[in-house]
Amino acid sequence: MRILVVEDEPKTAAFVQRGFAEEGFVVDVATDGMDGLHLAATGDYDAIVLDVMLPVRDGWWVLQEIRKTRPDQPVILLTALDAVSHRVKGLTSGADDYLVKPFAFSELNARVRNLLRRGPVRRAEVLNYGDLDMDLLRHRATRAGQPLDLAPQEYRLLEYLLRHSGQVLTRTRLAEQVWDMNFDGDSNVVDVAVRRLRRKVDDPFEQKLIHTLRGVGYVLEARN
Ligand code: CA
Repeated sequence: MRILVVEDEPKTAAFVQRGFAEEGFVVDVATDGMDGLHLAATGDYDAIVLDVMLPVRDGWWVLQEIRKTRPDQPVILLTALDAVSHRVKGLTSGADDYLVKPFAFSELNARVRNLLRRGPVRRAEVLNYGDLDMDLLRHRATRAGQPLDLAPQEYRLLEYLLRHSGQVLTRTRLAEQVWDMNFDGDSNVVDVAVRRLRRKVDDPFEQKLIHTLRGVGYVLEARN
């Protein structure tokens, strides 16, 4: 069994490495996001333990890059941020599990074993609603077969709307989940982004998919 640990804190990296080595794993350690991704892409690991706060590129970025080519790679996130929004973000960004720091090695070991027992998970690689399609591996969205030219934030917003189609999403929730920020009632960042997204996703088409619930938020659904 091979395991990759991406962790910049020497103490944590050392105790995790020693722990897994004692468990009989072959352990590689990377200490920044760039190195971590390089090893993840070139090595063949049974599991990756990935810290979120890393130098050069952070764990979210590394995870996103890994998922583009390896949707089934088991990844467990280490986070010092004991916040619900970060946990949710971790799991919706494609992590299989997460662990909040500080943690006992026995806990990490149990979770990694659990992932390995579960085997590869087939992840949805394509999100779809009506004639709207999003290919997560190729990072491409189309409507009625026509490519949508989306800025990164618009892509993430559309992905979130698609994952929760038919559900009313408040501005607060969108701000937290798509922008990772606390929504302040005066901010119009969500509305501005939705407007831009609509121009691309809805304006050229007769059937509108993104709807406003005045004073509440937005919903992606087909209405007659
Ligand atoms: Ca760190």
